Amino acid sequence: MFFDGAKPFVIAGPCSAETREQVLETAAGLQGLPVRLFRAGVWKPRTRPGHFEGRGIPALEWLQEVKRQFGLPVSVEIAEPAHAEAALAHGIDVVWIGARTTVNPFQVQLLADALRGTGIPVMVKNPVTPDIELWIGAIERLQKAGITEIAAVHRGFTSYGSASGYRNPPNWMIPIELKRRRPDLPLFCDPSHISGDRKRVAETAQKAMDMKFDGLMIETHPNPEVALSDAAQQISPATLKLLLDNLTIRTEFSPNLSGMAQLDHYRQSIDNLDAELIDILALRIRLSEEIGLMKKEHNLTVYQPGRWREIVENCRNRAAAKHLSPDFVVALFEKIHDEGVRIQLSLFEGAEKEIIH
Ligand code: PEP
Ligand code: MN
Repeated sequence: MFFDGAKPFVIAGPCSAETREQVLETAAGLQGLPVRLFRAGVWKPRTRPGHFEGRGIPALEWLQEVKRQFGLPVSVEIAEPAHAEAALAHGIDVVWIGARTTVNPFQVQLLADALRGTGIPVMVKNPVTPDIELWIGAIERLQKAGITEIAAVHRGFTSYGSASGYRNPPNWMIPIELKRRRPDLPLFCDPSHISGDRKRVAETAQKAMDMKFDGLMIETHPNPEVALSDAAQQISPATLKLLLDNLTIRTEFSPNLSGMAQLDHYRQSIDNLDAELIDILALRIRLSEEIGLMKKEHNLTVYQPGRWREIVENCRNRAAAKHLSPDFVVALFEKIHDEGVRIQLSLFEGAEKEIIH
């Protein structure tokens, strides 16, 4: 198995292969670091034309040199069948499908067909849109083509504006849902493309580790400031070493038994509180049923905006007094209120049925 469960499985190398010297200098800088796979884009999918689009096939030879000189396996992005064929012909060990390609099932199918029967490991970045089905769909197309070693790479999602402070906001729930649905696949994080800013790469990498990701893909360049692509987010090999040295790897279970016992104790209390919450919810729903019957009898509307505003107001005040986020509490009560409305409407539907029959 290429993705052998190393924790974290680290992939590093420049956004783009720019020159033979830059590629070899990066690889030399990674010597001694726990990096398992070298990355470099040789065909670059640029959003607008007129920017550096990669060196193409000659750069594959520089990657062959990395493999020969440093014994480090190498990977490139492929976006067309011709890229796949060239990568295979040059002994590239692993290929990845970029975020702008994963969105397009036609293109992913062409790539799957080009890789059919080769057994090369493939990394699949999430699509630029926050659509988990497209991500899983791309993985399934590769599996149907006989590719067995697949890893998913989370690189964040396109959004309008930069209010979040991320270049591609992470929407962590999406990769976590992928992990829940496909626990068999290694899940890596690309904190470089998520943050878009070298100052935030380390904290994003740590968040991914705290969420039980299996590995990291980090853009690394000997002189990040003058990189021909993604200059703002690349880090030097020395900075990568610092990042990896300071990374805390958390596990689900601790060998510290008294720590685990304390955790179990808290969890038991949480379970008790959850049971009480459900009992209270059941009482609340029974009351809304009673109210629904009265509304039906007196021909009152189910939805009464004034009453809902009153509930929101009460929730906000009480939440603030208890140091809870008012937005969180109101969002929770929107769900509860919706359920009350649904139940009351169903009582009214019964009335219509009685009339029809
Ligand atoms: C890259 O890895 O350099 C790249 C282009 O990534 P993405 O497909 O995530 O934008
Ligand atoms: Mn990049």
